[in-house]
Amino acid sequence: MTAPLVRIRGVHKSYGDHEVLRGIDLDVRAGEVVVILGPSGSGKSTLLRCINQLEVMNGGSIRLGEEQIGYELRHGHLHKLPARAIARQRSRIGMVFQQFNLYPHMTVLENIVEAPVGIHRRSRAEAEAHARELLARVGLAEKAAAFPRQLSGGQQQRVAIARALAIRPELILFDEPTSALDPELVGEVLATMRDLAGQGLTMIVVTHEIGFARDAADRVVFMDGGVVVEAGPPGEVLVAPQHPRTRAFLARFI
Ligand code: ADP
Ligand code: MG
Repeated sequence: MTAPLVRIRGVHKSYGDHEVLRGIDLDVRAGEVVVILGPSGSGKSTLLRCINQLEVMNGGSIRLGEEQIGYELRHGHLHKLPARAIARQRSRIGMVFQQFNLYPHMTVLENIVEAPVGIHRRSRAEAEAHARELLARVGLAEKAAAFPRQLSGGQQQRVAIARALAIRPELILFDEPTSALDPELVGEVLATMRDLAGQGLTMIVVTHEIGFARDAADRVVFMDGGVVVEAGPPGEVLVAPQHPRTRAFLARFI
């Protein structure tokens, strides 16, 4: 078997004396779609934020491919990365949040090309051509010149997904991408995410959409109290959960 793209080992994170992550181990292989389920407060967002270095973990390690998140190996020793190198590492990872956070004063196209042009120094022509491809991929080819306020919440979230893809990330993290949407708009965003999952993207998705977990995930991870309680294929974790806490959590969705 090939080495995992993401390798999380013993990750701890505390806020003051509140230990939010209490030793997380998780591997994600290239092309794999991992769905993280768990009650509110179980540390799901914190884990994604540690992977993306929006938070600094207190212990443990995360590898992305050959690199250690936040560190570099020099002369056989791990050294903390300077800010610029952290920004470069972060640019290997795309993130989609519950709140889409599009720039309201920019068009859809400008929102998507902003990072590739501003941070990645791609030519505007190349970035725009790629952005138009991505807009077609999320079903919004005709909205390039629109402003976010002219779009529905579901359309805005699909733009946010296109924006996350614009940096050509090796891994894309989704943190409850449909939780802020009106119920009738959830389906179109999940459909977009299913398409991406089918195209070989490596995705870690925090969601309460059990249906998505069932038919799009390669693996489901159930977190509670800052630990991974149970993980496995959806046909096992969702159908025959082994742990009472997983069973209690899933019972709410039946
Ligand atoms: P989840 O995404 O599973 O709902 P979170 O990772 O957001 O859980 O939060 C886990 C716990 O950490 C919660 O108790 C939350 O209140 C706490 N927490 C999250 N972020 C912070 C922060 N910046 N400062 C203090 N406590 C935090
Ligand atoms: Mg959360």
